Order: sequence, then structure tokens, then C-alpha cells
Amino acid sequence: MSRTSAGSTAVPDAAELDAADPLARFRDRFLPAPDVVAYLDGNSLGRPLAASVARVEEVARRQWGERLIRGWDEGWMQLPVRLGDELGRVTLGAASGQTVIGDSTSVLLYKLIRAALELRPGREEIVIDRDDFPTDRYLVEAIAAERGLTVRWIDEGDVTPERVAEVIGARTALVVLSSIAYRSGFLADVPAITELVHSSGALVLWDLCHSVGVLPTTLDDWGVDLAVGCTYKYLGGGPGSPAFAYVRRELLEDFRQPIAGWLGSARPFEMGQGYEPGPGMRRVLSGTPPVLGMVGLEDAIAVVAEAGVETIRAKSIALTEFGIALADELLPDAVLATPRDPARRGSHLTLDHPGFEAIMPRLWARGVIPDFRRPTGIRLGLSPLTISFAEVELGMRAIADELSRGAIA
Ligand SMILES: *Cc1c(COP(=O)(O)O)cnc(C)c1O
Repeated sequence: MSRTSAGSTAVPDAAELDAADPLARFRDRFLPAPDVVAYLDGNSLGRPLAASVARVEEVARRQWGERLIRGWDEGWMQLPVRLGDELGRVTLGAASGQTVIGDSTSVLLYKLIRAALELRPGREEIVIDRDDFPTDRYLVEAIAAERGLTVRWIDEGDVTPERVAEVIGARTALVVLSSIAYRSGFLADVPAITELVHSSGALVLWDLCHSVGVLPTTLDDWGVDLAVGCTYKYLGGGPGSPAFAYVRRELLEDFRQPIAGWLGSARPFEMGQGYEPGPGMRRVLSGTPPVLGMVGLEDAIAVVAEAGVETIRAKSIALTEFGIALADELLPDAVLATPRDPARRGSHLTLDHPGFEAIMPRLWARGVIPDFRRPTGIRLGLSPLTISFAEVELGMRAIADELSRGAIA
């Protein structure tokens, strides 16, 4: 059953979609936020599992409180590689020994970009997209300046294989790209671009911040060289939960990153002279692992494994289809910045309208929480494990309502 607007857009019935949703049962596992009517920012900070809140306390009391320093020998020291393997298996299509949980995404980007450049000596260009997330661009520019290299920009439009082909060549050392554009939600063709970059002899580093946990990904099969991503977005590891890095097995032996800390070294507790890189993914690490920051992440990975990434992706497509149908009906003056082709978009939508900035405080005050991205974009992150179709509709109706009231409340 569906309502038909004045135009040809048919908006499906939210209650029917929710009743048929195989992931609906997962919503109750997350902590309620009493004043929130519609949480449309699951791609920026995922909601916490109720179980994680209890587990943070449990780890603090039992492990930190009672085991004290013995905790390092009783599992903490293994967490970055153990959880990395788990995250790789469940969400990245990565065989063990290639994924590690480390620092922030920004710091891991720095380490991996620098390491990649060492693996391609004599090549003096780094390629990046002008519309990529600021931290990715700033780091590439800073590293290029540090190493006397040139930045080649993908200057206009979405990151397609054609646009990548225009800027790569024999001088390219590394291509740094996001799988899903943080603003538009455009989903790049990761396997095709990876193959293209390899044909030029360069390496590719994918930033998976907006795809990890919501998009079926097979890094090993695609031949991806390097990847990083946040764990606090769709994965819901909690504010500041540490990021992951993936390094393809064949690159590990010669992989050298610039932050040569003791816990990435071969024999940290011998406290010897001179840094020697540690075995396998350990060499990507630098310092003491953020143990408490990984508690929520461990639970979040288990929930994604239980739900299944394919099922999550199917709901993600249904959610964005539903959101687009609602936007067409309720917000005819807004411009959809996200592709209409579901195969080319991630799990968020961006709509542009000059009136959006003014209504943001009013939306947040009434418990409708999207994100705003300059200059005029409202971004709706639809996280399949935590949101219902009814919640999406409530949110979109509130946005339309506030917009119709104009700039002055
Ligand atoms: C969110 C995001 C980041 C965040 O990096 P942090 O170091 O965690 O602050 C980086 N890159 C992209 C593409 C992002 O979307």
C-alpha cells in the first residue's frame, strides 16, 4: 500500500516496512534517548548498546580494578590484533593478520600514507579528491610538503574510474580515496578503481569511515593495499573509539611507519637499543592500546556479525530509498546531493536547501537530530541496526515542518 503525492512519487507505508524489517528486533538492544524523536546522525556517532554500558563498568571494576597491571598479560595487550582480526573478518573480508585497532583515523592515515610512500620510492605524486573529508586532504597536503611531493587533485564531481584515470600515471606513488563520500554519500567503485591504480604501479589507500559496518566489503578479494576507518560511526564503538588499519599481507614485510614507538617494536619488554619493527600488524602500532575505548567496539562487531552485513546493506538501501521518496514528496525545493542509483550510494542522504542552516537549532531542540554540512546541506545518516522507517518519516516531516515556518521561528 502506498500514498501517492501530487507528483508521481509513491511513499511506502512506514509501519508496513517496519513490520517486514528483519533487523527491527535489534533496535531494543540500544540505550533509549528519551528526548530523541528521530536520530538521523548514526553515521557520525552510532548509538550505544545497553550491554556495552554494563560491560564498560564490568571491565573497569573487574579487570582494571581487580587485576590491575596484570590485565596487560591477561588480554589487554592482545586486544588491538584480536579485535582487528575480528573486525576484518566480520566487516572487511580480510583474513587474519592484516587488520589492527590503533589510533584515531587521522593518525593511522598519517602512518599509512607515509609507509606507502616508502614502498614506492622515486614516484613523486599523491592523488586525492578535492571533496574528500578535511583530515584526509590536510594530511596528504602536509605529507607532500614534508616529503617534497606533488598533490594531484581529482577536482570535480564524483570519484569515478574515469576521473581517477585522468590523474594517475607513472609518477603516482599513492591514491588516497574514500569509499563513500562523507558529504554526498557517493559510493565509489572500490574494486575497479583499485585495479586501475594498480595498473599504473601505484598503491591505493581507502578510507572506509562511512562504509564500515554497512557495506559488504571484500578487501582481500579486491586486492586493496591499505585501508583505514573509524569505529564510532555506523559501527557504534563509542565517542573516540580507536580506528582500524588494514595492510595487505604482501606489503607487511617491507612496511615501515614513521611513529616508531616501543609497542610497535619487535621486543618491547626487552627495552633494548634501536627500533626494530614488530611482527606482522604489530608494527603499525606505536603506544599503549586504548583498552577502555575498545569495549564498546567489541560488542558492536558482535552485533554486526549476528545481523550480517548483507542484511544490513539491504535495509540501508530500503532506508535511503524511503528517505528519497519522502524528500521528493515533502521537500520538493531541496536538492538531493546523493545519487538516486542505490548501487552508487552509501547509507546517508544529503539534501541541500538555503533554509536548512537556520532550522538546525530548532530541529535539535525538538529531538530531531540530523547533521549540517556547509554550505547548505542537511545530512541524514540512516543506521540500519538502530533506526526504524517510522523514525525516518518523523524526522523528515519535522524538517519539512520547520522549513515551512521559514527562517524566523
Ligand atoms: C569521520 C571521518 C574521519 C575522522 O577522523 P578522526 O581521526 O576519527 O577524527 C576521517 N576521514 C573520514 C572520511 C571521515 O568521514
